[in-house]
Order: sequence, then C-alpha cells, then structure tokens
Amino acid sequence: MIPQPPTEQIAMVDLQTQYQKIKTELDRAMQAVIDSTQFINGRPVSQFARNLEKYLGVSHVIPCANGTDALQIALMALGLQPGDEVITTPFTFVATAEVIALLGLVPVFVDVHPDTFNIDETKVEAAITPKTRCIIPVHLFGQGANMEALMDIAGRHELFVVEDNAQAIGADFHFSDGRTQKLGGIGHIGCTSFFPSKNLGAYGDGGALFTNDPVLADKITMIVNHGMKERYYHDEIGVNSRLDTLQAVVLDIKLPHLDGYNAARQAAAAYYDKGFSGNSQLAIPVRAPFSTHVFHQYTLLIDEGRDQVKAHLQDAGIPTGVYYPVPLHIQKAYRGYGYREGDFPVSEMLAQKVLSLPMHSEMEPEIQDYIIQQLHKALSL
Ligand SMILES: *Cc1c(COP(=O)(O)O)cnc(C)c1O
Repeated sequence: MIPQPPTEQIAMVDLQTQYQKIKTELDRAMQAVIDSTQFINGRPVSQFARNLEKYLGVSHVIPCANGTDALQIALMALGLQPGDEVITTPFTFVATAEVIALLGLVPVFVDVHPDTFNIDETKVEAAITPKTRCIIPVHLFGQGANMEALMDIAGRHELFVVEDNAQAIGADFHFSDGRTQKLGGIGHIGCTSFFPSKNLGAYGDGGALFTNDPVLADKITMIVNHGMKERYYHDEIGVNSRLDTLQAVVLDIKLPHLDGYNAARQAAAAYYDKGFSGNSQLAIPVRAPFSTHVFHQYTLLIDEGRDQVKAHLQDAGIPTGVYYPVPLHIQKAYRGYGYREGDFPVSEMLAQKVLSLPMHSEMEPEIQDYIIQQLHKALSL
C-alpha cells in the first residue's frame, strides 16, 4: 500500500502531543509555583537538581539559565586564562566554540569521524600544545564521543574534559572494563541544555552543569550566582545564570519520562533504518559500540544532491534540518583564528551531506512511512 500524505502537518519536533499527555499534572504544578510566587530559587529548583543527580549518577548538578551559559561557567570554574587553548570539534552548534572565544581562550579544532560525526580522538594528541588546557567533546545528535580514549589522553596530558551533553542527556557510555556511566558524568564537568526541543526540554530556556568534584561544584555554585557564597560578599567574578522555578517544575515532571522519551526516539530511529535499508544513495546513522544513541537528531548522509532532496521533501510537506551547514572553522566570526577551507575535510564533507529528519518522542509509523516513501522518491528523481 502506498502511504498517503498525512492530513496533519508534519513537525520536525512535536512538543504539543507530549504536553497533552502530562498536561493535568504539569498545569497544576506550574499554577502552584505561581501561587507561591517563588519564581526564583524556589524549592522545585533544588528538588530537580537532586533528582537529576540520582538519574545521572553524579554527585553534583548545578542548574543554570541555558546550555551556553553552562559551557561558559564550566570554563570559568576551571580557571582557564586568556590565551589558553581549548580543543573541540568544528562540527557542532556554535555555542561550544563561542564561549571559548568569549573568554579570550583559543578554540583549537580537531576534525570528526565521518560515521559518528563526533570528535576524532585519534587526531586529538597532534593538536595538543603547551598551552592546551581543556578538551570539549560534543556528544552530537545523541551519541557519545569516545570518552574512554579522551579521558585517557586528558589524563596523560593533564587536561580538563568538559562534556557538551546538550544533545545526549540520558545516553549511556560503556567502558571497556564493563562499567556504564551516563554521558555528562564522565568528564571533569558535564554541561547540558534544556532548550524546549532537546531530549529533556523545558518550556523556555534552561541548562545545568554536572560534576563529581566537590571543589568544582562549590566554585560553579558561586559563579552562577555572581561569585557569592555569603550574600553581597563576592569571592569570584561570576555571572547571573539561574533556572526559573517554573522551568524546574516542568523538568522535574518530565525527568521520570526521559527514558521513555528516549526509547520512543530509538524506536522511531529503528523504523527509519528499516525503511531506508538497501538504498545505496544514503547512509543511515552509525551506532558506536561504546555508547547508546538517544537520537536528538536522526541524521542521514545523502551522497549526492542533498539540497534537492531537502527541497523535494519540503514540497511534500516534510520539514528537515541541516545541522550544520557550515563548520565553525570557516564561519565568518571565527576567521580570525586562521583556519581555512580544507583544514577539516570530514566536517566540510558532512556539512554538504547531512540531512536530519523529523524526530521526537511522538513519531507515528504512518507519518514515517510517508517520509520514507518521499525520500526514496526524491533520490530517484
Ligand atoms: C543546544 C546546544 C547548546 C546550547 O544550549 P542553549 O540552551 O540553547 O544555550 C550547546 N551545545 C550544543 C551541542 C547544543 O545542541
């Protein structure tokens, strides 16, 4: 049977259906916050932080205003000095490199693996200089970078590791000795974002830092709050970065559903995989052996004519995304660091070929059937 175009509009991310399923509980809890008028630092903020600590298996979760702040605060807490070098990937959302640049640190890019899109750990050591202080791996699209190898390199060169876990909350990393740890809880500091479309999304902005180091936790707690421990005594130069009580309530209600949301994304990914198997004009997402994949994005590689395929799908009412169309080393704002086109051929190739399909916790097989059919059709034109 040929799949029919769905009557409803296809969404890249469907937050509405997910909300309807928890609406009663959520509306009541949000109303309770409004009634209490504890909009800032209300009890739900620390309650959510404690629950997230348990979920992630880390000793400290410090909420903040967004994922970009979390990354910036992490680098501040590590005491990095202007001119220090931070190694990261050019194939990521800009926030990762932006905070490095904003603090007067130097972003040093290392190319990614062509199959997992994550930083190529075998190329990291060649980028280390006497000024290198930190590595920021990004667990792109919901799957972990090779944290075991990266922690080993960092240990040998006395570097910090800050995980950008904005896209992979809930994913597990498997170490070769059999241990499993949630991503974000492996490096010295983990950072995440609760932007509404992330796997654990608030109803506005939000973010958090994770660490198992009590000294770093103490420092981060001060930095998010103007560098103060005792009111109006400032021991550090800090920022103002808070998670609203209303957002904490949303997140605390959604947290017990996170594994279910991620399982739904994995099931939708498996369904796509099956639908695309056998088509040699595209490559389905590769799963690394050492990490689960929580499919923040379901990203295909389209060998030829990605942009035409995207346009065809658009005409058929199917939204898609290109994450990311220009690697950071050749973005206008980052030209000053001296990189040129050709420096990171894998990232540059991926920017031409990636295509992310609708993916969220509420995908339906009928809609996926239609997307799969339209994509095969676009490739045969
Ligand atoms: C979303 C995202 C961020 C930034 O999070 P915000 O909450 O939007 O500031 C940082 N890094 C990556 C990889 C992201 O996907």
